[in-house]
Amino acid sequence: MLIYISAFIFGACCASFFTVCAWRWPLGLSIIWPGSQCDFCHHALAWYDLCPIISYIVLRGRCRYCDAQIQRHFFNSEVAGGLLACCLARHYLPSQMGYLLIILYLLSLVDIFHTALYPVPMLLAFIPLFIEYWPSNHWVSALLIGSSLSIINYFSDGIGTGDIELLAILGLWFGLETTLLMLLIACLFCLTKYLVDYLRHPVVFALVSRSPIPFVPYISLGVWAVLTIMNK
Ligand SMILES: [Zn+2]
Repeated sequence: MLIYISAFIFGACCASFFTVCAWRWPLGLSIIWPGSQCDFCHHALAWYDLCPIISYIVLRGRCRYCDAQIQRHFFNSEVAGGLLACCLARHYLPSQMGYLLIILYLLSLVDIFHTALYPVPMLLAFIPLFIEYWPSNHWVSALLIGSSLSIINYFSDGIGTGDIELLAILGLWFGLETTLLMLLIACLFCLTKYLVDYLRHPVVFALVSRSPIPFVPYISLGVWAVLTIMNK
C-alpha cells in the first residue's frame, strides 16, 4: 500500500510538471519563467496553490484571487498521472513500455490542450524506442496502417494526420494485429465517453460535437489496456 501511495504522489507531481510543459511548449513559452500564474488574472500562484490534486479540491476548482474556473484538465491530468505511476508500479512493465506510456501521456496532454501533434518532437521522443526495437520492427504493418488510414482520411477527413503517424509508429513496434486491437479499444473508449456526454447533456453535446476530438488520449488508453492485458 505504501508503494502505491508513494507512486501515486510521485506520479501526480510529475504529471503537474508535464501539464505545464504540454501547455507552454507548443505556445513557445518557457517552462521555467514566469512561474505558475492564473491564466485569467495573471496573479502569481503560491506554493500552497500548486499542490497537485489537493489545491484543486481545496479551492473547488477556482482561482484563489479572481475566482475564475480553473481548467478541469489540470486536475484530471494529475489524477491520471498518479494512476499511471501506480499502474507502472503494479505491472512491472519493461522500461521501454513504461517510457512509451509516459511519452503517450505527454502527447495526450498536448492533444487535449492544443488539438494538435507536433511530428518532429514526437519522432525525437520516440528515438530510444526506434533503436530498441530496430531488429524486430514491423515495417510492413506500419506501412499498411499508415497508407490505409491515409486513404480513409483522404476521402472522409475523419482522423487527424498526427493520429495516423502515431498509429503507424505503434504498428512498427507491435505489429498489425496488436495495433488494430489498440485502435479498436481506443474507439470504444471514445464512443463510450461521447455517448455518456450525449446522455448527460444532449444540448451541450450538439454544440461541441462538431469540434475536433483529441484522439491521442484514447489511443494511449488503448495502448495501456493492451499492455496491461499482455503483462498479466
Ligand atoms: Zn485568477
